[in-house]
Amino acid sequence: MGRIIPHWYDWRMILAMTLIPVCASALISVILPSVQRFRSSEANAAMVASPAPIDGRRAYGYLKQICELGPRIAGSEANARQRKLVAEHFTKMGGKVREQPFRAEHPLTGRRVEMANLIGSWHPERLDRVLIAAHYDTRPHPDQEDDEERRKRPFLGANDCASGVALLMEIAHHLEKLETPCGVDLVLFDGEELVYGNDPDRRGEYFLGSWHFARSYAAQVERGRSKMRYRAGLLLDMVGGRDLQIKREPNSLNFAPELVREVWAVARQLDARSFRNEIGREVLDDHLPLNDAGIPAIDIIDFDYPYWHKADDLPENCSAESLADVGRVLTAWLAQQRARSRR
Ligand SMILES: [Zn+2]
Repeated sequence: MGRIIPHWYDWRMILAMTLIPVCASALISVILPSVQRFRSSEANAAMVASPAPIDGRRAYGYLKQICELGPRIAGSEANARQRKLVAEHFTKMGGKVREQPFRAEHPLTGRRVEMANLIGSWHPERLDRVLIAAHYDTRPHPDQEDDEERRKRPFLGANDCASGVALLMEIAHHLEKLETPCGVDLVLFDGEELVYGNDPDRRGEYFLGSWHFARSYAAQVERGRSKMRYRAGLLLDMVGGRDLQIKREPNSLNFAPELVREVWAVARQLDARSFRNEIGREVLDDHLPLNDAGIPAIDIIDFDYPYWHKADDLPENCSAESLADVGRVLTAWLAQQRARSRR
């Protein structure tokens, strides 16, 4: 065996034992904060922008106020009253409001029906814009009811109409202050479902308002009249039901996959539980004309709502929490947008 204890044990070992802990602690005190700084900047990069302070109860109050107008079928007086109510609200919230009138033929009588989309614009000078839309007309009858008597009852559309409009009204409160490089247009589509009966015996066409809007936007782009472009379109439909379940909709995934990914990523980071990480049923809705006009648009919809086109689509089957959940995701997504250089 060699020497187990070196002869220099005494003074060198004592020096080493004193210096090693001192140096190590000095090293840790220098390195650790910078490691922590690196970690927290990494976390910040992954963190989502803050949502606006959405008030779910106020949004639910708007939903009830809209339903108190009664059924709001395209061309009806209540439909016009709702449009006026929202126009006044948007103006009060700092939006620049305009109507986009158009005409359609009534599917049963053949008579002319006057319709109008409503557009509220925030930061109208910004050419790079986002569109958030909902339809504001109600279906003429609750025709998903099995019972013929129930099919004759009025259809209030608390979720299928009022929820989207109410959430747009709530979002309007926050658009002046929200930090985003995009201009925002809140759009109400008329004539989404002036349709009687179900397929294949239905009478009437869907999406009249969104087609009118999409065609006039596409024509404007084509003629080069304006450099304004929509970078994204977010359609809200049935976003207020209790036990809200928003699944990724196949047509949205097909036409605007990146937008679906972005919105669901924000939802996950905010722990917004209404947004499910599942693929839902394919829905034909107002987002299709928008995509046709070159706007990447997705449908944020709960197509599993049990009262869809039923007489019980009423405010008591909707909730403030659901509206708030969606509003938080949308405003955080808006705040997360980055300026784009224009080519
Ligand atoms: Zn509907």
